[in-house]
Order: sequence, then C-alpha cells, then structure tokens
Amino acid sequence: MFGKEFQRKYALTDQGIKNTKSATLWTVITNLIVMGGMGILYMLMDKYVATLTDGAGLPGPWLFILMVLGFVILSLLTHLQQYRATYGLVYGEVKNVRISLAERMRKLPLGYFGKRDLADLTETIMGDVNRLEHVWSHCLGYLYGSFISTAIVGVMLLAFDWRLAIACLWGVPVAFILLFGSRKINKRNSEITKEAGIAVSDGIQETLENIREIRATNQEESFLKKLDDKIDYHEKTMLSGELSCGIFVNAASVIMRLGVATTILTGASLIISGKVEFMVLFMFLLVITRVYAPFDQALALIAEMLMSQISASRLMEIHDTKTAEGTNVFRPQGHDIVFDDVSFAYDGEKVLKHVSFMAKEGEVTALVGPSGSGKSTCARLSARLWDIPEGRIKVGGVDINTVDPEVLLTDYSMVFQDVVLFDDTVMENIRLGKHGATDEEVKAAAKAANCDEFVEKLPQGYNTPIGENGAKLSGGERQRISIARALLKNAPIVLLDEATASLDVENETKVQGALSRLLSGKTVLVIAHRMRTVEAADKIVVLKDGSIAEEGSPSELMAKEKGIFKHMAELQSESAGWSIA
Ligand code: ADP
Repeated sequence: MFGKEFQRKYALTDQGIKNTKSATLWTVITNLIVMGGMGILYMLMDKYVATLTDGAGLPGPWLFILMVLGFVILSLLTHLQQYRATYGLVYGEVKNVRISLAERMRKLPLGYFGKRDLADLTETIMGDVNRLEHVWSHCLGYLYGSFISTAIVGVMLLAFDWRLAIACLWGVPVAFILLFGSRKINKRNSEITKEAGIAVSDGIQETLENIREIRATNQEESFLKKLDDKIDYHEKTMLSGELSCGIFVNAASVIMRLGVATTILTGASLIISGKVEFMVLFMFLLVITRVYAPFDQALALIAEMLMSQISASRLMEIHDTKTAEGTNVFRPQGHDIVFDDVSFAYDGEKVLKHVSFMAKEGEVTALVGPSGSGKSTCARLSARLWDIPEGRIKVGGVDINTVDPEVLLTDYSMVFQDVVLFDDTVMENIRLGKHGATDEEVKAAAKAANCDEFVEKLPQGYNTPIGENGAKLSGGERQRISIARALLKNAPIVLLDEATASLDVENETKVQGALSRLLSGKTVLVIAHRMRTVEAADKIVVLKDGSIAEEGSPSELMAKEKGIFKHMAELQSESAGWSIA
C-alpha cells in the first residue's frame, strides 16, 4: 500500500512514508477504541434491558465506571498519539522536503532556471509544498487508517450478523467506486485550475516587472484587461472544479449514509420475522453512527488530494531533472576554452551543430552572427550552465562536464545584458563578486569600473540602497556595477554579452574603459554586437544557424570575398552613417 508509487504520488520522503504509516496505525487504533466505546454502551444497555425483561438484578456500577474511565484514558492517549503522528511529524516533513528541494535546485544545471519561470518555481517551493503538507497531515493517515479500521469493524459485524452488516456497509465501497470513477474528471479540472492560477501569477509578475514600459507606452488598460481576464478565468475554473468535485463528494457521502436507512429497514424486517433480537439492531445502530465518521474528513478533502498529486508531480519533476555533478577539484593548465564537436538542443531542436573552436587565454574571441544563431548558447555552455549531450568542452585541458559547476564558476566572471542587482547598498552589490572582500577592495574595483563618479553623487555614497533590482540606477550605471563585480572577482575567464549598444555615448565610453581593464590578460568570450568591438578582437567566430560559418582574425575575414563577416561589417558601417538630419 505504501510502496514507491505511493511515495512518488504524494512526493513523500522516506521519513514521510514512515510518518504516514505511523499516522495510519494510530488512526486505526483510535477508530477501534472509539468503536470499543460503542461496545461498552451496548453492554450497558444490554444489562439494563435484561433487568427489564428478565427481572435480573442490576450489576454494581463500579464495573461500568471502571470501564468508562479506562475507555476515556485510553481514548485520550491514542488521540494524543494520533495527533502527534498526523500533525506533529508532518511539520518536520515539510522542512525536510523544502530543504531537499533547495539542495536539489542548487545542483540543477543553471540553465534550468531559464526554462521554468520564477513564478512557477516559487509556486512549487511555497504553494505546492503547502498543499502537500495539508494532505499529508489531514488526509493520508485518516483516509487509509479509516479504510483499515472500517474493514476490521466490517469483518466483526459480518461475524455478528452478516445480513445487517451488509445493510450497514454496502454504501462504503459504492461511494468509493463513485469517487474513484470521477477521479479523471476531477484531476483534469484540478490541472486546469492550477494552470490558470500560474497564468495569473505570471501575469501579475510580468505586469509589475514591466510597469515602466507599460506606463510609458500607455498600455495600462490593455495590460489590466489581460490580467483581469486571466483572474476571471481562474475564478471560473476554480468554481467549476469545486462544483464538479462537490457533486461527486456529496453524492458519495449520501450513498454511504443510505446505509442507515437500509440497516433500519433490514433490521425491522428481521425483527418482525423473529430472525434477530432488538439488541442486535440496537448495536448496529450504535456502530453506524461511528462507522462513517472517519471518512467524513477525508472525503471533504478528496479534491485537495487530487490537487496535491499535481503538486507532487511538479515537485518530482524537479527531483527527476538530472543534476550537474562533478569533482571539487579543478586544476586546469591555463584557461584556453576548447569546443570540440559540440552539438546541443534545448527542447529537441538542435541549436548548435558540430561546433569546434578555441578561445585562447589572453585573447578576445568574439562570437558574431545573426540573432538566434547560437552565440549566447555557446557562452552559456562554456560555463556549464547546461550539460552537453554531444561533444566536449575543455578549459585548460579539463573536460568541464567532470567539474562541479560551483567549483568551475569560481574561474568565471560573467557580464551579461540582464544585470541582476539586489535590493541592498552599492557596496554590497559589488562585494558579491568576491566573498569577504574589504571595503577598500570594493572601492578600488568600483573606481576601475568607472563607478565612483556616479556613486559619489548618491546621497549616502557607497552605502546607498539601490532599490529592487537597482531600480534607482540607469542602464549604464547598472552595467558598470556588474563590471566592478567582475573586476573584484578577477576570474581568469570572462564571458561578456556586449550590451553597450543601448547606452549613450558618454556612458558607452566609460563602460568601454572599465571593460578594457577587466579583460586584459583573460580568456575573453564576447558576444559582440558592434563592429568596434569586433575589429578589436583577436579572433572572430561567425555562427550561422548553429554552425560555424567563418573563423579567423578580423583582417583575415575582411579579406574574404563575399564573406558573411565582411557583409555584416559593411551593413553596420552603412547604418552607422544614418542620421536624423
Ligand atoms: P543568439 O545569442 O545568437 O541570439 P541564442 O543562443 O540565444 O542565439 O539562441 C539560439 C536558438 O536557441 C534560438 O533559436 C533560440 O530561440 C533558442 N533558445 C535560446 N535559449 C533557449 C532556451 N532557454 N530554451 C529554448 N530555446 C532557446
């Protein structure tokens, strides 16, 4: 019952399975003891009825007082144990699951985080685990424990009087068959609701992230309309999901309770025909009040159980994604980057095909090519942000697939277009480049990256908070902070996505100055967009549709008749001559 499949279905850890077993066991014991209470009541009534019918003497009250006292104490103790097993242990489990999820995420290829958007991942760590927590604590132990205890009671009732037992319990399997049959419909509804919910979170995140552009382009209304539609749709899916589930759950509950009527009818006719005594029917009526009760809670949460399976499969998807493993030792001979016959696909479609080239230490290697040709992919792969299925990438002779990404990345600085800044001071944002760097080191790096002149103008200098993702800084300033970080890190390999195109002339010159300090003596792989950078590179690799089309020094490539690079250079110099006048 609690095998591997069950464990996956509810995303339980090994400890979680143990907890569920213990919760089930204590639910069985508690339910049986409650039934035992019914037994005491039955015995009491039996004795009283006997005094009325046979005129027998009433037994002393002490026996009953002792039994009731024993029952109360036992019941209290088992309820406490059950509570501890179902709720107490689950909180530990939630912690374990979140920690194991976070550990797992730490080891996932970094590229994975580009594939699943952040709203989605946050929803998994917070929402999905919360939903599962509720199911672990409120449903699993109760439901399975109730099954077992009802089965045990059922067998006992059958032995007592099989006719009444069937009249009392026929509804339980029928109710569960009905619920089981409706599982597909309810699961589908839950999936639709979940997707609609994620679309709403996505929509809100997107609107907040782009609020400046939305306002600047007067698109508030259309954006809000889109968001409204998403929220309305989510509400609708929730309502229809609840309704459909409610219909099935209530039908199941009614069917189960029909057992009361059939027991009374069967009992009455059996009494009339003299086949059972009234006290037997009385006992069944006592039991029946308790037999359905344990299912009530579990039934009410059945929708949640189905929903939780979707949450569990989202969680398991993270657990099933291959992690990037490797040794903690990385001792390359120099830092030449060599791509050897590398092919790569994101989702089945190949974006790099048999790419081989070398980026030498101390040189700037520029990746050039039309948008979508695979330049960023090459840069990402060179830092093992994704693992490659075909070919090999070596740094200083070491296959990077064999090195733990965290260790590998200590040798890399990345200055990408989307600079990530934290809601902290300028000082701390730069210090991220090197853990434990002194204030002096941070300031020296900031100076070299031409940051100090804008930092001086900030109200608290280096201790000015820069707002969420650096909202208070301009594009050029943000970029100079990221360069300062890289300078502070002083890693031997620099990956650079040249984004200076969006900067004004003054800023651009400053960023260029900062960059030239950063790049000297390093292995530099630059995704180049402008001819000025490309012409200054030592080597150019031209990519087209995921393959290398040309390779060589700028002068070699310019000398090629009908070369792609030459053509691009000519186009750019034409557009550089374009002006408003
Ligand atoms: P470039 O940097 O030359 O513009 P990229 O390396 O970014 O090219 O992209 C190469 C191809 O891979 C493009 O077709 C792009 O759509 C696709 N691609 C890039 N990143 C991803 C991703 N994370 N998931 C799926 N496809 C991607």
